[in-house]
Amino acid sequence: MHSFRFDPVELPASALSFRDDARAFLADEIAQDRFTPHRNSWNTFDPDFSRRSGAAGFIGMHWPKRYGGREASALDRFVVIEEMLAAGAPLGAHWVADRQSGNNILANGSQAARDDILPRIAAGECYFAIGMSEPNSGSDLASVGMRATRGDGGWILNGTKIWTSSAHRAHYLIALARSAPLGDDRHAGLTQFIVDLGEGKGVTTRPIYNLYGGHDFNEVFFDDVFVADDMLIGDEGGGWQMVTGELAFERSGPDRILSTFQLLRQLIEKIAQHADERRQIAVGRLISHLVSLRQMSLSVAGMLEKGESPELEAAAVKDVGTAFEQEIPEIARLLVDIEPSADSNDPYIESLALGVLSAPSFSIRGGTREILRGIIAKGLGLR
Ligand SMILES: Cc1cc2nc3c(=O)[nH]c(=O)nc-3n(C[C@H](O)[C@H](O)[C@H](O)COP(=O)(O)OP(=O)(O)OC[C@H]3O[C@@H](n4cnc5c(N)ncnc54)[C@H](O)[C@@H]3O)c2cc1C
Repeated sequence: MHSFRFDPVELPASALSFRDDARAFLADEIAQDRFTPHRNSWNTFDPDFSRRSGAAGFIGMHWPKRYGGREASALDRFVVIEEMLAAGAPLGAHWVADRQSGNNILANGSQAARDDILPRIAAGECYFAIGMSEPNSGSDLASVGMRATRGDGGWILNGTKIWTSSAHRAHYLIALARSAPLGDDRHAGLTQFIVDLGEGKGVTTRPIYNLYGGHDFNEVFFDDVFVADDMLIGDEGGGWQMVTGELAFERSGPDRILSTFQLLRQLIEKIAQHADERRQIAVGRLISHLVSLRQMSLSVAGMLEKGESPELEAAAVKDVGTAFEQEIPEIARLLVDIEPSADSNDPYIESLALGVLSAPSFSIRGGTREILRGIIAKGLGLR
């Protein structure tokens, strides 16, 4: 009988001490007016904030010291990220590199790639984008069509990626490409490559504007892009295993719960003076869901810390977590009679507008609801 495993996790003393450090760092940032907490936290790109976070030791913190890390645990990192998101800190520049690309390079990259790239990520000076989706393969990653062909001392990449967040500002992209002709096993022959996005490398990036007019994601065209052998991640043909492992990092973190946390916080402040029973019940319900989701997310972090690969549980956190994030603007709209406006100077009105306009994407990015439920059903032995 298959079942979910969400073992309770007790935070170690080190995590509590990291929480104090993160709070002190963030309080100082806010006191110096270095960021505006009501902005969209991990979509807000601020290289200076990333550099200061790196200098304070908050990026790649669970990596070995030789790569700029602090050899902290996944739970220590969980607590720091939670504090950063709860404070609305602008994590966008280093977000992908810290959350998944760096971990992927640490676990599967060549020694040259680790030595060259990880210390720069940890310093908050090197940013990554994820090159998985393509125009005809989003959910169905096994159908990826980008071609990687053997060249002299490396590989030549040709194809198109789409929905690539931050590709226009990142230094590197990790591309999933087909390095062998498609055979009977669609999961075989896929390889991940670290692609330098610098000028003159054969990469063209074209913006795709989102619902609220922001430029976060892109279409990226690869025209005979050369990638040296030591920028291949893992063994040739082993990409599928790595991508699914990487997605456990992408799907279970506090970011899958806290996307609209600032709005919830501001909603509570907004209704504090008029907290009738209906509003108290609605907010109490949201808070109780948040507490439960946080325990689930923490439990997945505990499993990742033990080196396990909780793909089923990560999918569950992402599915239920994004439903919760989408519910916050819906409930806020019912509780406060105010028209949302992205141009407003009122932080609540602006956050509400941002929440309403970005919420539809929460259950698409990082794996759509239908795909996650398919993974869960399979993991539970239901199909
Ligand atoms: C804000 C945002 C940021 C993103 N950033 C990145 C990024 O940085 N890098 C990157 O690589 N991608 C990124 N994506 C892409 C994202 O991961 C894909 O959009 C997503 O995986 C869905 O792929 P698709 O858009 O091609 O939709 P499709 O795969 O065409 O799916 C369309 C619909 O069909 C459903 N569907 C598809 N297959 C099945 C099936 N077998 N069974 C049941 N239903 C199915 C889907 O669930 C969905 O509802 C981002 C997306 C968003 C919204």
